[in-house]
Amino acid sequence: AATGKGVNARKPHIEGVKDIIAVASGKGGVGKSTTAVNLAVALANTCQLKVGLLDADVYGPSIPTMMKLQGKPEVNEDLKMIPMENYGVKCMSVGFLVGKDSPLVWRGPMVMSALEKLTRGVAWGTLDILVVDMPPGTGDAQLSMSQRLKLSGALIVSTPQDIALIDARKGANMFCKVEVPILGLVENMSCFKCPHCGEKSYIFGCGGAQRTADEMNMEFLGEIPLEVGVRVSSDEGTPIVASAPDCGVSEAYKHLASNV
Ligand code: ADP
Repeated sequence: AATGKGVNARKPHIEGVKDIIAVASGKGGVGKSTTAVNLAVALANTCQLKVGLLDADVYGPSIPTMMKLQGKPEVNEDLKMIPMENYGVKCMSVGFLVGKDSPLVWRGPMVMSALEKLTRGVAWGTLDILVVDMPPGTGDAQLSMSQRLKLSGALIVSTPQDIALIDARKGANMFCKVEVPILGLVENMSCFKCPHCGEKSYIFGCGGAQRTADEMNMEFLGEIPLEVGVRVSSDEGTPIVASAPDCGVSEAYKHLASNV
C-alpha cells in the first residue's frame, strides 16, 4: 500500500524510513488522531508493513492514550530514543516526554527542535511507512513541519459539514504550497447507523467531502461512520482495527490503508 500510487519519490530524511505520510486536518476534533492510529494499525496488521506512528500534535498529543502506551522511552547506546510499541506499531510522542496534564507553551523554534528529536533522534529501525499525526490547522508550525519532514504525501481528514470542509480545503492548499502530494480526503463521522432500528442518519450532512474532493481534484478515500465503538476503543487505548478487526468500521479503515 504505502509504496503504491500517490506516494512520490521524495526521499525522507530519516535513516531507514521509506515513506513518511501526514494525517492532517484543517480543524481539531474531526478525528485526525483516531484516523492516524487506526490507519497505522491497519497498515501493520492487514497490509503487513513495518509501520511507525509519530505524534507530532505537540499541543495535544493523544497517541499515548489511544495506543495504551506510557512511561519514558529508553535510550540506546547511540543516544537515540527507542520507540514504544503496541499493536505492531512503533510509536513516538511528545506526550512521552512531558507530563500528561502539563500544557506545552512552546514557541515555534522549540516545536521544531522537539520535532527534530522525535524524528531523527529516534531509533526507528527499518520502516516501510511512518504515519505522522500532525497538529490541526494550517499555521506556521504545520507549514514548517510539512517541509522539514520531507513528506511523501498527506491525507486530509474532515467531517462532512461545510465549516470543517472549508478548513480541509485550506489544509490541502497548504500542502500544495510546499509541494507535498495530497493522497486524498477521508470523510470521518460520515453517517450514524442506529443500533436499534438500523436507520442511517447523516448527522453532519451527506456527500460534502466527496464534492470537495471532486472540486479540488483530490482523490476521495472513503467514509468512516460515526460509531460509539470507535470512541470507546480510542479512550480505552485499544484501536478498533485491533480490538474488533471484522466490524464494519474496521473494514473502512482497512480499505483506507489499502488505498494509501
Ligand atoms: P482530532 O485528532 O481531529 O482532534 P480525535 O481523533 O482526537 O480528533 O477525535 C475526537 C473525538 O472524536 C475522540 O473522542 C474520538 O474518539 C472521537 N471520534 C473520532 N472519530 C470517530 C468516529 N468515526 N466515531 C465516533 N467517534 C469518533
